[in-house]
Amino acid sequence: MRLAAARSRIVARESGETTVREQIVAASDSEVDVVIVGGGFAGVTAARELSARGRRVVLVEARDRLGGRTWTKDHDGHPMEFGGTWVHPLQPHVWSEIERYGVETETFPVMEGLRQAVVSEGRIVELSDDDVVRALETFDQFCAPAVDLFPEPFSETLGPDPDGLADRSLREQFDSFKAEPALRDWVEGMCCTIVCGPLDQCGVTEVFRIYALSGHDAAQTMAAVSATKLLKGTRELINSIAGQATLADIRLNSPVQRVAQTDDGVRVELESGETVSAPTALIALPMNVLNSVEFEPALSEIKRTASAERHAGAGVKCFVRVKGDIGNVSIAAPEPHAVNWVVTYAHDPQGSWLIMFSNNPDKLEMTAFDDVQGMQTALQPLLPGVEVEAIVGWDWRHDPHALGTWCIYRPGQLTRVLPDLRTTEGRLFFAGSDSVSTWRCFIDGAIASGYYSARDIDGYLTAGGTTAAQG
Ligand SMILES: Cc1cc2nc3c(=O)[nH]c(=O)nc-3n(C[C@H](O)[C@H](O)[C@H](O)COP(=O)(O)OP(=O)(O)OC[C@H]3O[C@@H](n4cnc5c(N)ncnc54)[C@H](O)[C@@H]3O)c2cc1C
Repeated sequence: MRLAAARSRIVARESGETTVREQIVAASDSEVDVVIVGGGFAGVTAARELSARGRRVVLVEARDRLGGRTWTKDHDGHPMEFGGTWVHPLQPHVWSEIERYGVETETFPVMEGLRQAVVSEGRIVELSDDDVVRALETFDQFCAPAVDLFPEPFSETLGPDPDGLADRSLREQFDSFKAEPALRDWVEGMCCTIVCGPLDQCGVTEVFRIYALSGHDAAQTMAAVSATKLLKGTRELINSIAGQATLADIRLNSPVQRVAQTDDGVRVELESGETVSAPTALIALPMNVLNSVEFEPALSEIKRTASAERHAGAGVKCFVRVKGDIGNVSIAAPEPHAVNWVVTYAHDPQGSWLIMFSNNPDKLEMTAFDDVQGMQTALQPLLPGVEVEAIVGWDWRHDPHALGTWCIYRPGQLTRVLPDLRTTEGRLFFAGSDSVSTWRCFIDGAIASGYYSARDIDGYLTAGGTTAAQG
């Protein structure tokens, strides 16, 4: 059903510390055009875009908040991003949303007075500005094969690959990469941070793709992944988008258990026993959790296999409170270390907040996510003598609605799972940052997929929406 005008009312409601917008007019099944499963940036963007096309949507989200793998949580007077953080003008979809809603951004980390260093061969090597330039040149050398492999980064088609890079792990690529040790270790530490997974499980394609999208340039790559954040947090952006999903009935705390296609449409069954039916549904779930929903008929073998294998993004990002003012630091360490990058988030004489990344939580040897002693041990090679007071963050690996951090394909997964992962199946459409070809694993990719799927679903419904969609 296409509605001529928005007739719903949106109210703001406080849920924990996050303001969410919730539709208060519940749609009856007969009025629903699309059920969207998942309220991350992909699902919420699709809800807004479908609303703009006069399509009535029910969005069902398992959590008590929108945003999925982005989550701004206030702590100690700071809006902390437990998930997705950095954005950049090179990412066209997220940047246009930032401009559209006038969301304020800030440079982070602050470069002025930033102490940069790398742990290399058992010691801390301080990096002067010139050293940083040489470290970036080393990153360019490491990524040189990306020029041929991703000659047109915005296209899904790979360039010639005589060396079989599509099947190669980052670990293999590093093992054959020669450079001055400290600079090589800096590149390895930053790659560990970019992928947030063990290097032998991460495809070299994943770093090369981001490098190619950043204009085949190391400095731009670093800027794209870690230079600009939203001043008040990603929650401001997701709430702005949700606020314009005027025809969407957003239902939080609504985990989906089963999605069944029938001759007439799609029936989405919630764990609560409720059902929502519509002519079509958009599945906007992370790749790693696809298999935790039962689909009838079963999803394609490629989708099921990809979800079972999982992508390799399974590290840890968290905020660590340490004693005293440690200043503005950015310190990298290569894979053998438990911590691969630490950067100051805030600091004053009372103490400092650091953001810490580890590509392999097993190396952290922490008894629990908030094991202060374990974190203190892990940080010593980067910050000798540092005393840890507290840890806050979220364990995305064990979060049943994420089962991982951001989507980093394993060696060979890129060519095996795309484009099937987003190919329509009958009346089901698929979206999410894990299945786009360009800024995959970024907020930008999630938003882009929301645009594409809303456009495709609208076309499908306009054409009658009674037969199987074409993938
Ligand atoms: C620690 C971390 C750091 C990151 N850093 C950055 C960064 O700096 N910059 C950047 O651009 N990106 C970053 N990312 C990646 C980015 O956050 C994600 O790629 C993007 O937000 C994913 O959006 P999505 O909508 O595709 O998926 P998600 O955000 O995962 O949304 C999927 C939604 O589906 C819901 N769901 C799951 N199962 C069910 C179910 N059974 N029923 C109903 N709902 C369900 C989930 O709760 C979730 O809300 C980071 C991610 C993490 C985890």
